[in-house]
Amino acid sequence: MSTAKDPSCSPERDLIFVEPVFHGKIWGGRRLQEEFGYQIPDGPVGECWAISAHPAGDCRVASGAFEGKRLSELWDGHRELFGGATGDRFPLLVKILDAEGDLSIQVHPDDAYAAEHEGGSLGKCECWYVLHADPGATIVVGQRARSREEFARKVEEGDWDGLLNEVPVHTGDFFQIDPGTVHAIKAGTMVLETQQSSDVTYRVWDYDRLQADGSKRELHLAQSLDVIDYDAEPISSGHVDAREADGVTELVSCERYAVERVRVAGERTLPPFRDFACASVVDGTGSAGGHAVGKGDHFVVPSGHGRLALAGRMELVVSYVPR
Ligand code: ZN
Repeated sequence: MSTAKDPSCSPERDLIFVEPVFHGKIWGGRRLQEEFGYQIPDGPVGECWAISAHPAGDCRVASGAFEGKRLSELWDGHRELFGGATGDRFPLLVKILDAEGDLSIQVHPDDAYAAEHEGGSLGKCECWYVLHADPGATIVVGQRARSREEFARKVEEGDWDGLLNEVPVHTGDFFQIDPGTVHAIKAGTMVLETQQSSDVTYRVWDYDRLQADGSKRELHLAQSLDVIDYDAEPISSGHVDAREADGVTELVSCERYAVERVRVAGERTLPPFRDFACASVVDGTGSAGGHAVGKGDHFVVPSGHGRLALAGRMELVVSYVPR
């Protein structure tokens, strides 16, 4: 495949490919190796931090003018790559999750609560594009208690079936998880997650599961009760209704991020992004900006790159911060 670069694009504004960071999790599996070809550590691996400048998993640049640097170093020292983006940290975090088991029932705070209670951390708004769901797989998004008191009572009674909103999940579904939404990815599902760059999770319930050492993982019910949104109506499906136009489907656009699915069959050119964008090839092979790419590749489109030329047969998930 050709490796010729777009001649209008200087090496400093070439696509920035990054190396994922992997995290072992008790609910993880081996699909990140089997289906994405990654070299992963032994044992159950649940999370691939694919594009991240978070201190718990700061991706290294794989090639090009900035090879070997961390993404956080580019954010701190080469802000011109990110256009007019502001803030003291790279705002997005893109992951692939492999749930062989059930993730804990959890909820995340918003920015205001996290800033006050979590040492200045960002809150966490996240969303999931479902890469794979086993037949019959389900997912927890939302809950049915209309008040803090009702939620606490149902937890006390162990009435999880009455409390949690569990819906079927299918390959190609999409779920937006606003702060305050109780949620859990469950067994047999892989998702591409786009989120704020935050690692603050309040665990509501962990199914009374024991870890290898016989202990249970810590719960955070008090904080959960503080941050749960009791007014949000539970959803019934993650089916994507948005219309595809020229291969592009807008999955969500919220204050924190916009996420699009991009399908390429032949050639397709995306218009320039205002600041920067994160892109993940989630299926197929082809080329992006003159680079050969395939399933499992992740890159940042820097400010000034111009139009993004794509070719081949592939599907990407692209995210950026709206202004
Ligand atoms: Zn979450």
